[in-house]
Amino acid sequence: MSTQHQKVRVRIAPSPTGYLHLGTARTAVYNYLYAKHNHGRFVFRLEDTDEERSNDAYTQDIIKYLKWLGINWDEGPDIGGSYGPYRQTQKEEHYRKLANELVASKKAYFCYATQDELAKLKEDQQNSGLPSRYDNRGRFVSEKQAQEYEAEGRIPCIRLIVEEPRVVSWNDLIKGPISINTQDLGGDPVLVKSSGMAVYNFAVVVDDLDMEITDVIRGEDHIHNTAKQILIYEALGKECPRFAHAALIFDAEKQKLSKRKHGEFVHISKYEKDGYLPQALFNYLTQMSFTMSNGQEIFTQEEAIEAFDLAKVSKSPAIFDLTKLNWFNNHYLRALPANDFENLAKPYLKDLSLDKYEGPKINQMLNLIKDGLNNLSEIKEQLTYFEPKPIDLNQSEIRPILDTDSARKILRLMLENVDKFKNLDSPAAKALIDEIGLSNGFKKNKELYMPIRVALTGRLHGPDLSKIITILSGSGLVQERLENALNLTLQIKS
Ligand code: GLU
Repeated sequence: MSTQHQKVRVRIAPSPTGYLHLGTARTAVYNYLYAKHNHGRFVFRLEDTDEERSNDAYTQDIIKYLKWLGINWDEGPDIGGSYGPYRQTQKEEHYRKLANELVASKKAYFCYATQDELAKLKEDQQNSGLPSRYDNRGRFVSEKQAQEYEAEGRIPCIRLIVEEPRVVSWNDLIKGPISINTQDLGGDPVLVKSSGMAVYNFAVVVDDLDMEITDVIRGEDHIHNTAKQILIYEALGKECPRFAHAALIFDAEKQKLSKRKHGEFVHISKYEKDGYLPQALFNYLTQMSFTMSNGQEIFTQEEAIEAFDLAKVSKSPAIFDLTKLNWFNNHYLRALPANDFENLAKPYLKDLSLDKYEGPKINQMLNLIKDGLNNLSEIKEQLTYFEPKPIDLNQSEIRPILDTDSARKILRLMLENVDKFKNLDSPAAKALIDEIGLSNGFKKNKELYMPIRVALTGRLHGPDLSKIITILSGSGLVQERLENALNLTLQIKS
């Protein structure tokens, strides 16, 4: 049946040879949105034919973080009430059977070339300045020669016969018309290795056919693979799915995102651990290369499903920009109801010693900083001054603020009034500071507030000072810190 009339079926097909990374996650997002937009189905398949590099820890990570991102697949083997991924390794017999049929119909052949032979070929090509490629030598081996190789114990691989030169073309749903010359494909590609394992390009075609995939959406690093795969579809006498290749993701310096260069920052798990919300990351990944027609940047998954269109996905590389992601995450954190935010934030308090405070005070602290957070892991740094530890007042940018007569005056006045701050709410605390200031001749708010802020927090900036005082009051810390600051600046003076 032609893909034109079929119900849309797409898939994400990661290899479990690494943790879920931003590139695969974005591909998953696009497949998912495309499936939902077209009322189709989204399938998850693990391409685990690379036995040496595949690892169950990677598999579990991929499953966990696809789900965390809100990307759920519509079918798969039953694993106790939910769907597991489909797996390629469970189909080896099937791939081999189809490859053997291609040999029988003379579209593929057994290639007996040894690893040493191929290494020598590569070396000769390099020495002569030629691009390295397989020279299709196995095609021309006689029956008799093949028998001799068999007798020697050589185990052949299976290669597809590729006509050269020839142009393979398709109309890419993202990039438009693409043409690849078969001379650039590196020679007749292997379908099944001598170990009996199907290679990616063959297994992926067979799987996509078996799963009736109508649209293959993936990164543009697969463009040459697509040309090979089209040739395999042809050899199998099957129609191709539609193809869409998304431009790769680069960093702000236009370097391709990679584990080697960017470390953990390419892994989705890093963002969960650092306290990014899945809906923020989903939104960010979607809009990285896809723009809503009304220019709207913040949107829900439902809005994205409604609007998603591969024709509107950019052909140019996407730029991963942490500052922009922070902006998205800040928006989603701010939008959380206080209760939800508090529950999500609590685990990030574990390295702070806040035993002095009751639950409601902790919640007040959290809500104090909520609107300014880029991610939840910033909480620790932003709340350290609530810990019962001395504040470092000797930092070069804050010390001069304390060492003035006006600062000493307000610190002294605050100490005289410190008991009055107990049990005040923040508007009342603010009114009290203002009153102290006004009745003692303070004209500028900065002269009044800055020394207090610095004494209590060791910082020049931060949330509303009266709210900080309200939380600190009752812990004894207000008095202790005002005294410390005053003593320090008096020592200097004397
Ligand atoms: N296993 C391939 C990868 O992770 C899948 C590519 C495809 O979607 O066909 O890149």
